[in-house]
Amino acid sequence: MQAVQFTEHGDRDVIEYGDFPDPEPGKDEALVDVKAGALNHLDVFTRRGLPGVDLEMPHIPGSDAAGVVTDIGEDVTRVEVGDRVAVTAGVSCGECEFCRHGEHSLCESYHLIGEHVRGVHAEQAAVPAANLVHVPDDVDWVTAAAAPLTFQTAWRMLMTRADIEAGESILILGASGGVGQAAVQIADYAGAEVYATASTDEKLEYAEECGADHTINYAENDFASEMRELTDGRGVDVVVDYVGPETWDDSTKCLAKGGRLVTCGATTGPKAETNINRVFWKQIDILGSTMATLGEVDDVLSLVWDGTFEPRIRETLPMSEATRAHEMLEEREGFGKVVVIPDSER
Ligand SMILES: [Zn+2]
Repeated sequence: MQAVQFTEHGDRDVIEYGDFPDPEPGKDEALVDVKAGALNHLDVFTRRGLPGVDLEMPHIPGSDAAGVVTDIGEDVTRVEVGDRVAVTAGVSCGECEFCRHGEHSLCESYHLIGEHVRGVHAEQAAVPAANLVHVPDDVDWVTAAAAPLTFQTAWRMLMTRADIEAGESILILGASGGVGQAAVQIADYAGAEVYATASTDEKLEYAEECGADHTINYAENDFASEMRELTDGRGVDVVVDYVGPETWDDSTKCLAKGGRLVTCGATTGPKAETNINRVFWKQIDILGSTMATLGEVDDVLSLVWDGTFEPRIRETLPMSEATRAHEMLEEREGFGKVVVIPDSER
């Protein structure tokens, strides 16, 4: 088969699209004929190399994909040959204390397809059957591939961890990114008053289309002072910050008393200073969130399949142009998901 792959970590030029041995499904796996894949910032971090992650080379990147089941292992009952499916990347053991409580993304051996093991940006992929979600006939492949990682991440972060309620106010930083656009749509769906930041007016317009009620251009204005003005000094109930050190201190400033700061990542680095006085005086909760449980994945994807949520697409490229796809993410060009299609499917 043809696969996007790299044999060493590095810049974009390590990426190749070429021959790779056909995968064979293990006894609890299914073989998927990939119709479309989508990129996440994780693909860039994985290509550059993550501390503590030792990959089997060559590595196939990619955590999001959708396609048709063409073969199944002997123990598989969840899917059949011919089923239309989307891949959810989080692999859990099903047996540890956290899995037994249904907390799959807390699994002791939790790992991601594409980050820790070979991914799905290839003509075929063998993945655990538990990681497949059925896709209705009327949902196109691009939508099915673009939704799983970002929508499950935003869903758990807002609906489970921050437990947002109708009428609450929420600030979402970086609203034009993959998780950002999903978070804006989900917060709007939950009945929250949504504040969103982005770096250009075009991206802000896009955030408004996704459901933001108020937008702030953080490249032109200090968003913390802007938020103070917009909320008459009160602040918001919830801040979504996956930016990290660049925004962390300002995020705690933007919170109302009793507010929650929720994070699912740190794109500008892992270490930030926290003003502890502000944490105890305002009685702030700091909440971490990673991916989602399999039940949460089913819940949010059913709302994508019925059109309630829509993953916005930035660009669709052939897999042979995966290097360009990585460039679009690294250079933060435009907004929405970058999708790659096997050249043989175009
Ligand atoms: Zn487990």
